[in-house]
Amino acid sequence: MKKIISGVSIELRQGDISKQADCAAVVNAANAQLETGGGVAGAIHRAAGPELAQEARAMAPIKPGEAVITGAHNLPNLYVIHCLGPVYGQDKPEDKLLGNCYSKALDLAEEKQISSIAFPAISTGIFGYPAEAAAKVAFTKIIEKISTLKTLKNVIFVLYNQQDLDIHKRVLEQIM
Ligand code: ADP
Repeated sequence: MKKIISGVSIELRQGDISKQADCAAVVNAANAQLETGGGVAGAIHRAAGPELAQEARAMAPIKPGEAVITGAHNLPNLYVIHCLGPVYGQDKPEDKLLGNCYSKALDLAEEKQISSIAFPAISTGIFGYPAEAAAKVAFTKIIEKISTLKTLKNVIFVLYNQQDLDIHKRVLEQIM
């Protein structure tokens, strides 16, 4: 599914965030220490190799809502943007902190003058944010900023399973 707003496409696809060869940057649902872990962080660090953690170490720790950028090492991308989402029920206000992740990731991508970025559903795995509420925050923030984007033309959401893809499709239709 693809929607175009102000000349920028928002695309939803099912897949593995560590296998998105057509995106200049992929976003990591990181932990504060910017280390490997489960879920997205595990997949990204495994595919990128140990040099990713080595490069990221100097920037750690980061706080919920923050984002930092590194090279992508053995991944088929140019950059990894590491976002620390809020832990649901703990880091508050969750919606603001999650929105900050998306906003800062877009800012970092624009600073690097790249045209495409792929996001996972930040905070919706181990961090427990309900998928529908998280999708609403993510799309609202991206649409709010979309007319200010200069180089970014493709914003892609990579959902791991069919259920999450369906939820995101429904929320995007509702918001637009
Ligand atoms: P967080 O700690 O921010 O909750 P997780 O990595 O646990 O991050 O999960 C975030 C979302 O990414 C979940 O919906 C999870 O199902 C999904 N996910 C897990 N592995 C991958 C992957 N390799 N590619 C894309 N999405 C993934």
